[in-house]
Amino acid sequence: MAKKRDYYEVLEVSKTASADEIRRAYKKLAIKYHPDKNPGDKEAEEKFKEAAEAYEVLSDDKKRSQYDQFGHEAPGGFGGGQGFSSFEDIFSHFGDIFGDFGFGGGRARSRGRPSPPRGNDLQVRVTLSLKEIATGTTKKIKIKRQAHCGTCSGKGGTGVATCNTCQGSGQVRQVSQSLFGQMVNVSTCPECGGTGQSISNRCNQCTGSGLERKEDTIEIKIPAGVAEGNYLKLRGEGDAGSRGGPHGDIIVLISEKKDEFFTRKDADLECTLDVPITRLVLGGTVRVPTIENEVKIKIAAGTQPGRKFRLRDKGLPHLNSSGRGDIYVTVNARIPTNLSSKEKSLYEELAKLQSTQEAEREESFLKRIRSFFN
Ligand SMILES: [Zn+2]
Ligand SMILES: [Zn+2]
Repeated sequence: MAKKRDYYEVLEVSKTASADEIRRAYKKLAIKYHPDKNPGDKEAEEKFKEAAEAYEVLSDDKKRSQYDQFGHEAPGGFGGGQGFSSFEDIFSHFGDIFGDFGFGGGRARSRGRPSPPRGNDLQVRVTLSLKEIATGTTKKIKIKRQAHCGTCSGKGGTGVATCNTCQGSGQVRQVSQSLFGQMVNVSTCPECGGTGQSISNRCNQCTGSGLERKEDTIEIKIPAGVAEGNYLKLRGEGDAGSRGGPHGDIIVLISEKKDEFFTRKDADLECTLDVPITRLVLGGTVRVPTIENEVKIKIAAGTQPGRKFRLRDKGLPHLNSSGRGDIYVTVNARIPTNLSSKEKSLYEELAKLQSTQEAEREESFLKRIRSFFN
């Protein structure tokens, strides 16, 4: 798929455009590329969909501010995740904007009584340890959300009939004269809240909303290899919609707990290991903790501090492909401080032993420096 264009660019508006400017810009494009006007024109069809997607995000304050912050990668993923697949979709989303200019909107509303509104999306943040990220995990989370009222099964009461104010359309139209001619303003019916139904006996429990707040424990399955900033969408787990409307989603944002030992780079892990100086000199093995257990690394005699070892396939699993990253271990020399008298005398003996050799080495080094300056 081609790279997504910037939504502001699509609508040809500035980043600071007002809601009204955005609406007007979208209207202009929607008229220009409308399928009724461009039958069989694939390019117009794409442009029409692109504009609808941009408008869907930029016309919603919450989505717009997320988009401004994160671009197409925003949590909730307006981009790839939920692009519009058909004209029907677009019409059912923006029925009322098309109503304004006399075509398209009819299609959405002719589909009978409006469906009750969808519930809100909820966001939860889950913080994971490196171990949990490595293996994948299931988290139990307590969440307060709207559920359909148990007393009225979400209907809001009994004696449900078509709303008189809007005749069941869920929308009221106000016609006014303006400088630019007749303006039709379509808004949600205040009487029935857009459901198109009135209730003669409102439910005592929920006073007609059809909702009750509940605390639930949900289980979230998190795959191995996720990273800070990733998110999962639990479809239909968000707030219930009023009057029996469908549930919104839960967006699960992933956070990483900082690990004491490892630093993460994608699927690779890096660490520094302090090794006794004698082992670097004489050679030997050192034990390195990994995600599952630990492994031994062989260290050759004379290994220098700063040397990096690679433990293949011991890192984190890749999220979207098979295989794992690596672990990189950098060895560091541990210089002893609180020496016992025995240790001290051994070091002194060693120093004495090496003194002639070291003095010669120092002399030749200084000679090289001097000849450089003369
Ligand atoms: Zn109720
Ligand atoms: Zn109504």
